[in-house]
Parts: sequence; C-alpha cells; structure tokens
Amino acid sequence: MKSFLVDYHCHIDLYPDYSTVFNDCENEKIHTLAVTTTPKAWPKNIELAAKMKFVHVALGLHPQLVHERAEEIQLWEAYLPQARYIGEVGLDAGPRFYKNIDLQKTVFKRILQACAEAGDKILSVHSARAASVVLDMIEKHLPNDRGRVVLHWFTGNGGEIRRAIDLGCFFSINMSMLINTKSRDLYISLPMDRILTETDGPFVKHEGHPAHPRDSLAVIELLSQVNKAAPESIASAIWSNVCRIEGTT
Ligand code: MN
Repeated sequence: MKSFLVDYHCHIDLYPDYSTVFNDCENEKIHTLAVTTTPKAWPKNIELAAKMKFVHVALGLHPQLVHERAEEIQLWEAYLPQARYIGEVGLDAGPRFYKNIDLQKTVFKRILQACAEAGDKILSVHSARAASVVLDMIEKHLPNDRGRVVLHWFTGNGGEIRRAIDLGCFFSINMSMLINTKSRDLYISLPMDRILTETDGPFVKHEGHPAHPRDSLAVIELLSQVNKAAPESIASAIWSNVCRIEGTT
C-alpha cells in the first residue's frame, strides 16, 4: 500500500499565505487535517478545500477562545451535519484560561455529546494541563464505538497515556514535543499503532520558520532514529493508522 505524509493538526487558515499552503498540501499529497478555531471559519475553509483530495477541514471551537465565543457553539452545532472531522476542540487549564474552565467544560460536553449522537466523527482534541479531565469527559460522553479521538500535543503522564490508550485514543505528535529529551522518552514509548504526525503550524516553528505541513517529515525522521527503524516503515505505520481511523482499510 502506498503511504502519504500526514499532518493531522495544522491551522492552515492562520498562515498569511494560507491559499498557497492549501495548494502545497494538495500538490505534495500531504494528508492534512486543517483544524479551525471558530465555526465562523468553516465556510471559507470548506471552499478552499472543495476540490482537494488531501486536505480535510475540521470544524472547531478552540478552548482558548471559548471565554469570548461560547455562544458560537450554536453555529458549531448547525455545521456539524456537514463535518466528518472535528477540531480544534477540548479544554485548556493553563494559567491564562483556567478561570474559564467551567464554561469550557460546558461547551466541550456539548461537542462530545453531539458527536456521540451523530456517530463516526474524528476529533482532534486539545488537553493542555487538563489531560485527566479531558479523558474523564471522553470516557463519559463519547464511547469508543461512537467516534475517534486523536489527542493533539498530549502532555499527560505515563498513567494518563495508558488510560488514553485503553479508551482507544490516538496521539498526534509534533516536533516541539520531541525536542525536550525528557518528554521525548514518554512519547517514543507510545505504541506505534496509535501515533500520527502533526505540525500544529503556524504556531510551532521549524528551523526558524512557521512549521509547514511538509515538516511532518522531521517527526518521522526523528521517530525513525529513536526506534532504529527505516523512515519508510514509520511512515507506513502512521499511514495505516490514518486508514484505520478514517475507516478506509
Ligand atoms: Mn492547534
């Protein structure tokens, strides 16, 4: 089976030259999940990706924006029937956002319940400083047979990682997570059948520029070094995970 480079969490619409990045993904055959931060961005993103095979737009409501955009949950729900991919959604309990955590939980619960009811959605989930609560909510509101969860930039501890695995979650890994050698040990111990690559561009920088979806290759190269496996075999394992998540195998 031919495999493709994967960027399962990228904010393409937030690059200054976003239409070039959309076209790059399509032309370079990079299987990209174009996450959004507000449902207001949905129509434009869908239009940009309309004829594309490699770019998939995700319907999002970012937890860091919930304090000023909570009412957009209604717009998010209105677009939900059009969307197979959901994100960026989740919780952020970091110092800047902790005070709104109850409102974030209300919104995230509605999102999980709506996804469970609809079925067959694929979610890219943010869980900064909130790994345990996010897992509690997934366990309670989105049973494994009602949707697929990809934990984006997951920074839980070993116990939380094991719990996420038991809940059927996948992990999308970016270069920033692997640069710190202490956390790197934790992430490279993740089972290969649960790993995806991501850039989280343009927020994450790669070699001094905003990471581009094609920079997912650097994650593959690093995984290949630490696992002492050929880059091709890492790439094909990741591609087969995508096929399993999306139900195309
Ligand atoms: Mn993000």
